[in-house]
Amino acid sequence: MSASTPSPAGGPLVGGPADPEHDPTAAYVLEPDYVASLTGRIVSTTGESKQSHSPINGAPVAHIPQSSEDDVVEAFARARRAQLAWARTSIDHRAAILMRLHDLVLDRQEEILDLVVWESGKARRHAYDEVLHIALTARYYARTAHQHLDTQRKSGVVPVLTRVEVNRVPKGVVGIISPWNYPFTMALCDGLPALLAGNAVVTKPDAQTMLTALLGAQLLEEAGFPKDLWQVVAGPGSRVGMSIIDKADYVCFTGSTATGKLIAKACAERLIGCSLELGGKNPMLVLRDADVERAAEGAVRAAFSNAGQLCVSIERLFVADQVYDRFVERFAARTEAMALGATLEWGPEMGSLISQDQLDTVVAHVEDAVAKGARVRAGGRARPDLGPYFYEPTILEGVTPEMTCFGNETFGPVVSVYRFHDEADAVARANDGEYGLNASVYSQDGPRAREIARQIKCGTVNVNEAFAATFASIDSPMGGMRESGMGRRQGSEGIHRYTESQSVATQRLLRFSPVLGLSDKSYATVMNANLRLLKKLGRA
Ligand code: NAD
Repeated sequence: MSASTPSPAGGPLVGGPADPEHDPTAAYVLEPDYVASLTGRIVSTTGESKQSHSPINGAPVAHIPQSSEDDVVEAFARARRAQLAWARTSIDHRAAILMRLHDLVLDRQEEILDLVVWESGKARRHAYDEVLHIALTARYYARTAHQHLDTQRKSGVVPVLTRVEVNRVPKGVVGIISPWNYPFTMALCDGLPALLAGNAVVTKPDAQTMLTALLGAQLLEEAGFPKDLWQVVAGPGSRVGMSIIDKADYVCFTGSTATGKLIAKACAERLIGCSLELGGKNPMLVLRDADVERAAEGAVRAAFSNAGQLCVSIERLFVADQVYDRFVERFAARTEAMALGATLEWGPEMGSLISQDQLDTVVAHVEDAVAKGARVRAGGRARPDLGPYFYEPTILEGVTPEMTCFGNETFGPVVSVYRFHDEADAVARANDGEYGLNASVYSQDGPRAREIARQIKCGTVNVNEAFAATFASIDSPMGGMRESGMGRRQGSEGIHRYTESQSVATQRLLRFSPVLGLSDKSYATVMNANLRLLKKLGRA
């Protein structure tokens, strides 16, 4: 373990779990001044704070100031003032700032990675995925800003005489409520298109990973976004999250399906829009003609990236009879050989779970499955020797519907493998349940795999890849069908959700009523002739 590795973020001082509040020999893992430079951004007047701890070694990380409902009101007031000026800036100006953010994120990646790892306990390689995703998102939206936001000409009802333009008007202030699992990208990726479209943002990141989100806010300001345009509040979702919904013009939520339903109801009460990126029980299909080696390698990343705490990670693997034994043998061998570790260093292929709650869920799902007859093909144990919340990457066989992990999201490093004989049956089983976030299909026959993909009720499907091909292709929409969500991030949909479309039609000469003493009946006859003519001319 390298809990004492020096960090560009200023720490760590030591790697012990003692609380410096009560033990003079103990110290925080990060320099207190550095932490204060970040937490100072939280809008908070309560004088209350909440201690966070690192999953790497249990050591205290920071006291996070808590926001009251009045603080949320103040955050919105500041954001609204900033938004009025921001909406008048040019698209080119905003896009140039996004491009600077791209460079800044790459330049400051060591600091970002250190914070992500300290707060989440994940492997450094998985923290790097977050840097990558923000750089990709910033570049994509900067380069395509005009394509999404420029006023567009549309055909008017009367050719030549009706001129129609559609404007993209910013919603105003967007509320973003984000989870802890990808703390850097989840805090920022949905906000970048919101800012580009001329909005301000008030965000409530998850309590466990607040510093990473605050570093994101600092980088936005350093890139050139006005400081007040991006407000951060902190506190329990049930209180601070709901206060955000009371004030926002639009809400972007990422988190569990249960919370997503509460958010949707609260937004409906106010008749404001929302996008919901929720949970999944994502399937992978390994078809009979799959490259088994490649599929096994893909399954390792699919199931165990970020210790399975990834919305798009695979928890159900359906494998064709013809390749089942070879695949499972290869997948299990590869899983058992994985390098595990809770450390700031590069190297481990999997890091820690984030919290005791997550560990409890994983242990409960595996114990329940084993008690009801499932077989552990790899892993299956907590590893306190590696970290307080560490759990081995685990493969289960013989999972049946009465087991909790059959249909419920574990959100941990546990995958169930099932054999199938018939592809139609595999698709039906993949579509079983209420979720529909992400799927993966392995086959050497591209057209057939894409045909199967079309039958799977998921918002993204990756062929010969786990999840990264769709997630990193920012030009394509990403989100869930069914109980995995509403709306999409990324692509045009990911930015248009933050705008109101406004149609402006300018009418010349013609009026839409009888003229020159024409009776209503004659007017209708003239209009009928016009409609028939326009149809003949092929007009839409
Ligand atoms: P969660 O729903 O408990 O919390 C997510 C966020 O919502 C946190 O910031 C939390 O403080 C806040 N919150 C909680 N209750 C709230 C309430 N009543 N009102 C307003 N805000 C509230 O989810 P979690 O356990 O932190 O995250 C894991 C879940 O998120 C998993 O189900 C995972 O699949 C999902 N997730 C989905 C995506 C996606 O893109 N689809 C991405 C990451 C995580």
